Amino acid sequence: MLRLAICLGCCLSLVACQLHSKADTKETHFLLGTIVDFTVYSDNQEIAAVAITDAAAQMRQVEAMFTTYGETKNTVKTFNAAQVFTPVQLDAPVDALLQQSLSLMQNYQGSFDPALGQLSLAWGFSTGEAHLHALPSAQVQALLDKSGGVFVQRVGKGLWQKTKPGVWLDFGAIAKGYAIDMGIQTLQKHGVTSAIINAGGDMRIMGSHGKNPWKIAIRHPRKVTSLGWLEVRGDNSIVTSGDYERFFIEDGQRYHHILDPKTGYPSSASMSVTVLAPTATLADAVSTAMFVWGPKKGLPTIENTAGLEALWLDANAKLVISSGLVPIFHAL
Ligand code: ADP
Ligand code: MG
Repeated sequence: MLRLAICLGCCLSLVACQLHSKADTKETHFLLGTIVDFTVYSDNQEIAAVAITDAAAQMRQVEAMFTTYGETKNTVKTFNAAQVFTPVQLDAPVDALLQQSLSLMQNYQGSFDPALGQLSLAWGFSTGEAHLHALPSAQVQALLDKSGGVFVQRVGKGLWQKTKPGVWLDFGAIAKGYAIDMGIQTLQKHGVTSAIINAGGDMRIMGSHGKNPWKIAIRHPRKVTSLGWLEVRGDNSIVTSGDYERFFIEDGQRYHHILDPKTGYPSSASMSVTVLAPTATLADAVSTAMFVWGPKKGLPTIENTAGLEALWLDANAKLVISSGLVPIFHAL
């Protein structure tokens, strides 16, 4: 009897613990070509687990809708395969993200460009088939000629056409951020108010982590250690673009997957840049743009834009950091 009473006591306190004390529920999924860690901080771990499963499924759908790789059909691939001046109906989220991408392309003077498809593909970094040699400049020039968001046109509701043959969309610099935002939105639908989705170092956080801020480590682009960490509270996204994930070195020159749309070659203005923004979609696109601009051109723009902060390691590994990050960045 005593044993039963103790046991019952244990069960009750366990249930109470599960329902009332806040704790992290963590899950890891492989999607978007990377490891995605979900952390939900809540007082109901069962709901948290259901919310994470749903968010991961939602993010997988976004991936399938935007990817230009693999066998799955989607409207982005249909657009890429279409002839010039042949309108293609894009899925509503693709339509919306393409409109947002083109306005970001304008804001950032073409340093972020959602229509570098053929050029990116030829460099081969995203397919895992990166050439161990730089592309010949004639080939880069030819591919650059058929690249650019200026050659895609919206001609009706969700209806898009290319105005130059061979122009391909590539959402590689923004779709991961968008997927993270959709994951967060799904968690919110399940009533989650405090969470973090971390897709291979690109993340969005929601709410506070009890009394403590979330601590976000920033990787050093040339060392195994981190550069330092950010202490972030509230709703924020932190996305990094770096030249260290996918690259090769030829004749002492580093070639990597972030291209300068002006030259068609990998940009050499930065080693890495971390951007803080209200949404992961914005942080993702802006981190690519700021990588291409480098801090000299980028910092004044960041300082003049409400809601955006950035931290660079420039081409000489010099740390440049926007004023809003100074109080929350801790160097190692
Ligand atoms: P990551 O893939 O590491 O998150 P980015 O967000 O910077 O890095 O995106 C790089 C990807 O976006 C490339 O693999 C390529 O598909 C595409 N891309 C490369 N350069 C640009 C650019 N200047 N603008 C838009 N997309 C780009
Ligand atoms: Mg990006």
